[in-house]
Amino acid sequence: MKAQCQCGQLCVDLPGPTPAVVACHCIACQRRTGSPFGVIAYYPADQVVVSGNATRFERATDTGNSFETFFCPTCGTTVYARTGRHPAMIGVTVGTIADPQFQPPVRSVWEQSMHTWVSIPGAIEHYPQGRV
Ligand SMILES: [Zn+2]
Ligand SMILES: [Zn+2]
Repeated sequence: MKAQCQCGQLCVDLPGPTPAVVACHCIACQRRTGSPFGVIAYYPADQVVVSGNATRFERATDTGNSFETFFCPTCGTTVYARTGRHPAMIGVTVGTIADPQFQPPVRSVWEQSMHTWVSIPGAIEHYPQGRV
């Protein structure tokens, strides 16, 4: 399984599915993705292999941690991210895996800024803000 940017130069090789898939509706993720929400699949960093060049952007989260995103300097696609809260994990943006069968989120956070037409179905955890 592999994640890659639009132009294909930035890739992440993945060991397979992961249960740790999170949908985030916060305003920063809306701006990061250009979409109403972002979905990230978290893996232990030692189980993934990144290849290609990435540009890094770091911001503070609303819960006081750092959030780093890594994107292709050529095509701009954000392929992976790292949170100060879980520094041993790499978060891979689910859209870059481009697999419609990829597992759905187990958690939906910052639903207080969720677009009104969006609903995340299934027996998953819902939080109005970040996970407490
Ligand atoms: Zn690219
Ligand atoms: Zn977010």
